[in-house]
Order: sequence, then C-alpha cells, then structure tokens
Amino acid sequence: APAITTVGRFAPSPTGPLHFGSLVAAVGSWLDARSAGGRWLLRIEDVDTPRIVPGADRAIMDDLVRFGLEWDGEVVWQSQRFDRYADALERLRAAGLVYGCACSRKEIADSSLTRARDGGLRYPGTCRDGLAAGRVARAWRVRTMPGQVRFDDGLQGEQSEDIEAEVGDFVLLRADGVWAYQLAVVVDDAEQGISDIVRGADLLDSTPRQIYLQRLLGYPQPRYLHLPVATNLAGEKLSKQTLARAVAGQPTAAALGAALAFLGHAPPRDLDGAPVAALLDWACGAWRRDRLPGARVIQAPIGV
Ligand code: GLU
Repeated sequence: APAITTVGRFAPSPTGPLHFGSLVAAVGSWLDARSAGGRWLLRIEDVDTPRIVPGADRAIMDDLVRFGLEWDGEVVWQSQRFDRYADALERLRAAGLVYGCACSRKEIADSSLTRARDGGLRYPGTCRDGLAAGRVARAWRVRTMPGQVRFDDGLQGEQSEDIEAEVGDFVLLRADGVWAYQLAVVVDDAEQGISDIVRGADLLDSTPRQIYLQRLLGYPQPRYLHLPVATNLAGEKLSKQTLARAVAGQPTAAALGAALAFLGHAPPRDLDGAPVAALLDWACGAWRRDRLPGARVIQAPIGV
C-alpha cells in the first residue's frame, strides 16, 4: 500500500455546538484529507477554560458523526496535554527564547503604538531586558526577531509578516495560567504529524506566529490552506458571539449541501434528496482545490 502522506485535522474549540461556519471548516479539511487518501484527526481545543462550555465537545462529536465526517484514531483533548506545552515552553526558556512579562493589559494599551493585523496591540517589549524592580512576571512571552516570515497558502497565495514589527513578542503562557492557542496548536500539530492544515481564513494572521514557533522548536512546517470564513448578513463572522444557529437543528443533507456549495462544490441536481454519505462520496471524487472560492470572507446563505 502507498504510504499515507496526508494527515489533516479539525481542531474546534468547544465553546458551543457546530454552526455553519465551523461545519464549513470541518467539511473542507475532511474532504481535503480524504480525497487524497489521507487521515483526518479530531482535536478538541479546550485550553481556554473560561470560554469552554461543558458538553460542547460531545455535541460537536455527535454533529460530526451525523454529517458522516468520521475521524481516525483517538480524539485528543488539549486539556490533557498541559505537560507537553510546559515541556515546549521549558525548551524555549532554556534556550533564552522566552521571558516573564509583568505588564497588564492597560499598561500595554498605554504604551503600544502599533496594532497588529488581527487588531491586537503590538507588545512594545517593556519586559524584554528584564523586569523593573518590584515587578512580578505574570505571563511568558517568546522573543521575536525582525524579518519576514513567509509561506505559500494553498488558497490565499503568498503571505508574509514581520512578526517583530507587527505583533512583537507574543504570549505563550497567559497571566491567568492558560496556555496560549499559538503554542498549544503548534505542539499538537507537530506531535500528531499533521501535514495539511485546512481551516478558516480568520486564522491566516496567526499562521506566521505558528511557523515562527515551529522553527524555534525544530518542528516541520505543515502546508496551510485557509478557507473563506462564513459571515452573517451584517458581515460578522458566524460564531457563538454573533448568535450563529447550531447545525444540529437543521436537516443534515441540506446543511451539508450548503457547506459544499459554499466551498465551490455544489452537488449536482441528481443528488437532491440524497443522504450525507452519497453527498460526501460525490464530493470526495469531485474535490479540487482550484474550485474553492479564494475570498477571505463570504456571506453564508440565508437560513443556515
Ligand atoms: N480551535 C480553533 C478555533 O476553533 C481552531 C484552531 C486551528 O484550526 O488551528 O477557532
């Protein structure tokens, strides 16, 4: 048998049930991996303890099963992997690449002159050369270096960012003790052997930081493809905050068909009324990256 070269993943945060936007990300990454004969893994990103909703992980898993989006192997929960993130932080600390930061959000807001693309404030480097007398480290930051981090996104094309200039030294372990998404995702993608990361374009701006951490930690760099993000009529990303509807309440085949159409793979008329398995079979054969719409945001169809 040929070696499996594609390993994809879906990495939802269990902050609520699947909505149309997260269904699109799941379907896109599933098809991208399965159409290449690859594996597809499920990782529950439950590090951000204040935001997670008890039971949302199970609801997401039930939704995936109903949509025929089966995963391989054991589900991974980030909440059970804090020792791995601590190991990675310790490796960086031993190499002099992280430092303790005493700054509060307000102090950073008062001293930062630059905003990053994702709207966050650039960290001005206040604690970079050591803490001023009487100040106590609250968070841990990684040292960034000037220079462009470049990558070629499978859909959005060439991307580049000077992290030092635009974001500054970023947090790996938050003041409230929560592991930063950027570190956890990089450690897990590497340990799970992910070759192809297919996810929403809302995470495009995070990717240079993740590549930077991969380089510092000596991890291989996966391929990236950032799908268009679904928005509501007001142009807001579908999310729990914007009160997106749960897909669980919608007819399964219709919701899957809408997700496929959103991704440029509208099922043919003769599959009207077909069950999800038939839709996925068709989509697996039809899947072509160059059929995907290239925009970063697209309005979701009415009614989903
Ligand atoms: N957990 C993140 C989210 O739900 C996605 C992480 C990723 O795909 O890298 O937005």
